[in-house]
Amino acid sequence: MVIISKDNRIINIGVLALQGAFREHINSIKKCGANALEIKFPQQLNEIDGLIIPGGESTTINKLMNKYNFKTHLDDFYKSGRAIYGTCAGLILIANKIINEDFGLNYIDIDVERNAYGRQIDSFEEYVTLSFDKTQKFKAVFIRAPKITRTGPGVDILSEINDNIILVRQNNVLASTFHPELQEDKRIHEYFLKMAGRSIN
Ligand code: GLN
Repeated sequence: MVIISKDNRIINIGVLALQGAFREHINSIKKCGANALEIKFPQQLNEIDGLIIPGGESTTINKLMNKYNFKTHLDDFYKSGRAIYGTCAGLILIANKIINEDFGLNYIDIDVERNAYGRQIDSFEEYVTLSFDKTQKFKAVFIRAPKITRTGPGVDILSEINDNIILVRQNNVLASTFHPELQEDKRIHEYFLKMAGRSIN
């Protein structure tokens, strides 16, 4: 699924590559037919049409974002209206509020609790329904996943399981508590690419 910009080029998706599962997202984006770039320095945000903040350890990614002076550049990127997708730790980082932490970037109006499924359940998989494509279920992989404890009025819920909200969108910001980059089904990455295409065209 190739998405072309107004000036006739294939869109560029950046993946924040400070720590965590960024290579898997790069591969997923390439498989969908878009250009994928590892973002290691804030200036690179100027080159991309959409940004993925991957899973990993949110406290570590936050420290590295501070160290490399990402935050004001990320705020500018968000305000420009280009699409952002946070998975797991990435979702935590872009939330309005993180319980017992103070580093939420506030790009999406949700509250989150880190590691909320408990220590004994480190990781699990569930087949879930996506609101935008109900033809078949999506295998969602959860790894020390957070829970979304509140969604604001502007937030659309795109998937939930057992009363847990797991995939949400507010305008050009998408967030999931699970890791779609760890498997072959690319429907969520394709959905994000369409968001990114619309945000620049
Ligand atoms: N437990 C991690 C955190 O709190 C998130 C885990 C993940 O991204 N898979 O940052």
